[in-house]
Amino acid sequence: MPHQILLLFGATGDLAQRMLLPSLFGLDSDGLLPDGLTILGTARSTLDDTGFRAEAQSALNKYVDADRLKPELVERFLARLHYVPVDSTRPGDFAALADKVRELGRLSAIFLSTAPSLFEPTIAGLDATGLAGDGVRLALEKPLGHDLASSREINDAVAAVFPEDRTFRIDHYLGKETVQNLLALRFGNLLFEPLWNSTGIDHVQITVSETVGLEGRVGFYEGTGALRDMVQNHMLQLLALVAMEPPAEFAATAIRDEKVKVLRSLRRIDRETAASCTVIGQYGAGAVSGKAVPGYVDELEKPSETETFVAIKAHIDNWRWKGVPFYLRTGKRLPSRQSEITIQFKDVPHSMFAKRGAILQPNTLIIRLQPEENIRLLLMAKQPGLDRDGIRLREVPLDLGHNALADGRRRIAYERLLLDLLAGDPTLFVRRDEVEAQWEWIDAIRDGWTANGMTPRRYGAGSWGPSAAIALTERDGVSWHD
Ligand code: NAP
Repeated sequence: MPHQILLLFGATGDLAQRMLLPSLFGLDSDGLLPDGLTILGTARSTLDDTGFRAEAQSALNKYVDADRLKPELVERFLARLHYVPVDSTRPGDFAALADKVRELGRLSAIFLSTAPSLFEPTIAGLDATGLAGDGVRLALEKPLGHDLASSREINDAVAAVFPEDRTFRIDHYLGKETVQNLLALRFGNLLFEPLWNSTGIDHVQITVSETVGLEGRVGFYEGTGALRDMVQNHMLQLLALVAMEPPAEFAATAIRDEKVKVLRSLRRIDRETAASCTVIGQYGAGAVSGKAVPGYVDELEKPSETETFVAIKAHIDNWRWKGVPFYLRTGKRLPSRQSEITIQFKDVPHSMFAKRGAILQPNTLIIRLQPEENIRLLLMAKQPGLDRDGIRLREVPLDLGHNALADGRRRIAYERLLLDLLAGDPTLFVRRDEVEAQWEWIDAIRDGWTANGMTPRRYGAGSWGPSAAIALTERDGVSWHD
């Protein structure tokens, strides 16, 4: 049997250096890569195998903990790497790539870690040189378009060559251990599911906050904005996992069917409701972690109406979630970097402790994905004592820290996804109908902003966004979980 090949486009880029090569090294170190797997890198840079191995070595030195870089493991990993230069916009370059593939073995999977504008010419080049057939799988990085129409165009170009069951759309949040743990928590326990609806849950919050500003992503971020960069993909995927019905099995079709039902049940936020259900902001100068930072337009060096912050009050119009708001919030230059889902349960119907002076807090489940991965359930418990001055109850956390469960190092989300790609398991990848349902919802919001002449409100860097974002929840008697 010829050796399997993983073909990596954009092999010299940031994502490859920071995430993909370190992930592949991690898998190789643990003996998890298929025997003889060859990783064939490509980009425009004129490197040979030796040059690419040198680049990969410096990426590992930079992004992998030194104590894991055992020389024999590094050497074994680097020996898997090969390189052939290809400019994806030049159809003639693909012949040399095809020759190299034939020389090395059997193409198993292709990972496009390049700008989406290169997807179409790359796929055409692969197709023309016979590199797209024989069960070859294709993994694509976000962003898959900037609206429904452009997303369909990309999906059509992909579908013309790679059938859906061989198309692996990446949302790296799905590779996170805690995101999968959310499924374990919901569907591996009896405790939560009976309450996981409008009877038991008051509201849900999803926050993805960043402390960084533009960070060299000027070309991409300007004109994209927070809604399309974060909400369209990661946050709607999280929302779908929180809200979906129990799938029949942990399998691609069962899980993705349930997610897409949720995405299609999202109440449209449109011209009528955009102004009352969304808040957009753009950071001005301020201070983050005690350090003065410039505003967005100062970093950009030109005026801009791109939103660096968005808060949304969403609803899912189905039986389970009737009347339960899902508050979503994401932004740059916020006070802390955190990705978190907060499930706020309802008050107990009656407090038998009220006349004894005890105040009850409703239960809260906090699923934290970043910076640390952690699940915490806040419960009321009795403070030890003889209660002579009344009963004292206290909110105490029940922690399901990652460390309590892990039997090894914490893995990069891409490790799981790369392994699933090589094994051909699409469960944790996003199906076309999901992406398109996501875009449909996002496009209506953007249309609502335009129709209402909504432009971003300024917020100081280092704050939690415009004050209107606080008002968005406070109107409902809800505070953001900071
Ligand atoms: P990047 O650093 O700009 O890398 C782009 C890669 O594409 C480089 O290897 C570049 O190498 C290659 N390339 C550029 N033009 C090419 C051409 N005409 N033909 C062939 N190769 C070409 O970008 P990135 O940050 O790695 O991101 C890659 C993709 O992942 C993008 O779609 C991005 O949106 C997405 N993504 C990135 C991150 C992240 O953390 N970086 C996170 C999520 C998603 P040469 O210049 O040598 O050709």
